[in-house]
Amino acid sequence: MNEPDYDVLVIGAGVAGLACAQQLVAAGKRVIVLEARNRIGGRVHTIRERGVVEAGAEFIHGENATTWELVHSLGLKTLEWHHSMDEPGRVFGKNGAIRADSQTLLEEMKKAEEGLSMYRGPDISVADFLVAKNISEEGRFYASRHIADIEGANVEQVSAARLAIDDKIATNGTRNFWITEGYNRLTDGLARGIDIKLAHAVSDVIWSEGRVIVRCKNENEFTAHRAVLTVPIGVLRQHSITFSPELPVVFWQGVDKVGFGDSSKLTLWLSKPPPEFNMLDTAGLFGHFWPRLFGEEPVLVGFSGGSRATELTKMGEKAAIEVGIEDVADALGSTIKKQILAARHFTWSDDQYACGSYSYSPLHMDSAREDLGTPVGHTLYYTGEATNNGGHVGTVHGAIEAGRDTADKILARI
Ligand SMILES: Cc1cc2nc3c(=O)[nH]c(=O)nc-3n(C[C@H](O)[C@H](O)[C@H](O)COP(=O)(O)OP(=O)(O)OC[C@H]3O[C@@H](n4cnc5c(N)ncnc54)[C@H](O)[C@@H]3O)c2cc1C
Repeated sequence: MNEPDYDVLVIGAGVAGLACAQQLVAAGKRVIVLEARNRIGGRVHTIRERGVVEAGAEFIHGENATTWELVHSLGLKTLEWHHSMDEPGRVFGKNGAIRADSQTLLEEMKKAEEGLSMYRGPDISVADFLVAKNISEEGRFYASRHIADIEGANVEQVSAARLAIDDKIATNGTRNFWITEGYNRLTDGLARGIDIKLAHAVSDVIWSEGRVIVRCKNENEFTAHRAVLTVPIGVLRQHSITFSPELPVVFWQGVDKVGFGDSSKLTLWLSKPPPEFNMLDTAGLFGHFWPRLFGEEPVLVGFSGGSRATELTKMGEKAAIEVGIEDVADALGSTIKKQILAARHFTWSDDQYACGSYSYSPLHMDSAREDLGTPVGHTLYYTGEATNNGGHVGTVHGAIEAGRDTADKILARI
């Protein structure tokens, strides 16, 4: 039998795959990365259309996020987005105007959020937690939408206990930053020096201990001693990649048990800056809007998570844009409509190489994330944001950490 061509073959050139490959290459290993799309970055997807637009990840979440190490080494410029509930500038809009009682609503939301991060009780849903918490019905309405937009899942589906644990162990910090030249400058930097084959969608993984043959839809075939799989949970659920022999039952149980959410983003290019706010909560399908004012044209970004995102995705781009324009007009007044120059809606659940936005922690998740990250023999590894065990799931820094942890596990064996 021929010696495999590579020490490690990585499936997927998203953040986790690139971070893993970079670490392995730095250790002198022979590595190849196979990527289905004709671009790298996965759920980091900067579009250079009328300036810089982020279809996927937009912020570095936290002043201590692992991402900073790369930002500094690549010399990328950043700008802080001040949106936390403790800072001025978070407003609520309804019936054509910013609500005068915005501060009261914000206090209610803060009560909900602080209570949630302190929660140490049984595994109940965030929805049940909010009912038990003594906050107004409107406070609950906005808190539910806020959490759904962050998690990409409705509050009935998300575990309050898990959210609280992640909050407790997370080390990334609370501030948020844009990479003003575009998030993909970071993935471009991560990809330097790595052998990546684009437009190589993997269809079959045939493996035995210490040997993997990977076949692509374009019929190319590669061999390696080990493979690292980084495709999103949503893609695994499609079973579009076959494994022979089949992966352990506990792995597939993990795929089913970890939550995988849905999110969509709207970009509205404006002829003049919107009224001053950092974050606008609406009552529409797009729950939140924030301004991006550092490009040539002012932009408003709308965000939806959970079943609202799925509804918007299903209606198609044109209809979703119309909904978004009505949402923002309902929140700020109809004059904003005349200031909209162009619009785009970016979706993820209908993207065959993502099949959703990012993972969340549902009820009864048990040890699913750990099970997913447990190597199969010393040959097959799964990594990505969904396996992060430091409270950083569903983020770019979480994916960097997961990819690097997997590289460490491999390097410890070879
Ligand atoms: C709308 C949205 C907004 C977000 N906002 C933020 C944010 O502001 N800040 C933040 O930190 N995070 C954010 N995230 C989350 C962040 O983008 C992800 O957690 C992170 O990018 C995931 O990286 P990954 O490497 O685990 O997965 P991915 O980036 O999905 O990488 C997996 C790769 O596998 C490839 N692939 C799939 N199938 C195959 C196949 N058969 N063969 C070969 N390759 C395949 C995919 O094309 C992809 O490139 C956001 C995500 C979305 C969708």
